[in-house]
Amino acid sequence: MKIISENELLEAAICLRNGGLVAFPTETVYGLGANALNPIAVAGIFNAKKRPNFDPLIVHISDLSQIEALFAHPINEAVYKLAEQFWPGPLTIVHRKSALVPSIVTSDLDAVAVRMPSHPIAQKLIHQSGVPVAAPSANRFGQLSPTSYKHVAKQNMEIDYLIKGDELTKAVGIESTVVAIENRTCTVLRPGVITAEDIEKCIPDFEVLTPIKNIKLVSPGLLQSHYSPLKPLYYLNDNTVVSEFAGVILHKKEHGKKYSDKTIFTSETGNLLEVAANLFSSLHLMEEDDAVKAIYIAKTTEKGIGRAIMDRLNKATFQYQK
Ligand code: AMP
Ligand code: MG
Repeated sequence: MKIISENELLEAAICLRNGGLVAFPTETVYGLGANALNPIAVAGIFNAKKRPNFDPLIVHISDLSQIEALFAHPINEAVYKLAEQFWPGPLTIVHRKSALVPSIVTSDLDAVAVRMPSHPIAQKLIHQSGVPVAAPSANRFGQLSPTSYKHVAKQNMEIDYLIKGDELTKAVGIESTVVAIENRTCTVLRPGVITAEDIEKCIPDFEVLTPIKNIKLVSPGLLQSHYSPLKPLYYLNDNTVVSEFAGVILHKKEHGKKYSDKTIFTSETGNLLEVAANLFSSLHLMEEDDAVKAIYIAKTTEKGIGRAIMDRLNKATFQYQK
């Protein structure tokens, strides 16, 4: 694996186009990209991540016109409306696919997920590669999502290039909102910082659904256990007794260090955008601290962006919930 900086991007873009694997920063989390039109390259992603192949990938584009070749025609009008308002940005749109998209990208589903990221390095890389880029998060399957190139490097995956991003450009910090468009309905498959309410405002003529049950049937990748650190992770309740070997993650400074000296705050004020931006990096810090044997994390509200945060936390704590 070669770690490169932004000014060596072209080398990585050519590698990507020719079937290589490139990890790159986006405004959500780091992606592990392959040429989406090359099934063998895409198979390399599943191999590097040890990701089960029933989990479909998001195809990343740098230009709106690329949807014309990826989506089946006629393309639903909601796609253009959502794209106009939220792209480039943390929204993934699932729509019936064209014959051009290899079935390994969609795990044999007849719809493909597409997103246009806003991160300048991601945009430039995709543009220079000249192809749509299939990319899941750049971590081994089931583990914490990476928000810095160092998080990717520690995964020891077999990839060709890792592009160093500026830490300050991480703006969102959790994965994109995923919506599926079909006829007159828009189903929110994965919550993110773009909320169901934001979507409803953008396409008022469509029915916006936010299912909580049976979602695995429509979106096989949305597993119950996911995004987990390599140490036990528990929710912090009012009456939790925290051992001296545990680290604590809180979302507001005013809550102080009453539980443990090893406390990290995702936000000073409880601002949910800030909590989301710092969520995975806080978990990585706890994962990397050898003195921390277990992690306790506070819940947030389940409203608005809190829904996306709690979605990630419910999955991360799943195997430790009683
Ligand atoms: P990740 O690549 O880890 O950000 O996850 C992408 C997620 O998007 C998958 O796990 C699915 O839940 C969802 N997704 C991707 N493609 C499709 C698709 N064709 N249909 C439904 N959901 C999808
Ligand atoms: Mg992932």
